[in-house]
Amino acid sequence: MAQVQCPNCGGFKVHEEKQVIATERRQIPLSVGEALQGSLIVACIVGCVSLALILGLTSVEIGGFARVVIGVGLVLLALPFIVLAPIRAAQGKATIARDVPSLVKYDFHCQICGYSWTWRTDEPPPVVNVRPDLIAKGAKKLKDDERRRQEQQEQAAALWYLQQQQKK
Ligand SMILES: [Zn+2]
Repeated sequence: MAQVQCPNCGGFKVHEEKQVIATERRQIPLSVGEALQGSLIVACIVGCVSLALILGLTSVEIGGFARVVIGVGLVLLALPFIVLAPIRAAQGKATIARDVPSLVKYDFHCQICGYSWTWRTDEPPPVVNVRPDLIAKGAKKLKDDERRRQEQQEQAAALWYLQQQQKK
């Protein structure tokens, strides 16, 4: 989700955890890439089977002419699908049934004031109280935390350097 505002302080530094509660089956447009992929798979399978039939590489007990007819027939049957699927996808006409989230629950945690709340997509968004004092306090705390983390890193680096020197 883009730009969630904390209802407690109005800050935008919010950590979120998303949980899908319910899904529903919907017809989603097929992308051209997916259609091409499908066409390629069908072309490979049909191509292999047809070639095997035509070249007589199968153990099927049918005459040479019949094998060629079936092999060519398979290709002709599959050809419209192989060619049309990507074209229809490009036109936005090809769809595929997919499960898409219909109800999502979010657990939010404000990194500025520490407030936690949940929101489901079937609920109205919470009313936001903008509290500049809380934002200022939280921003200072975040900055202090960052500085402390940096100091710890520098100390660790210095310690590592000392240990390396002692080894020599
Ligand atoms: Zn907040």
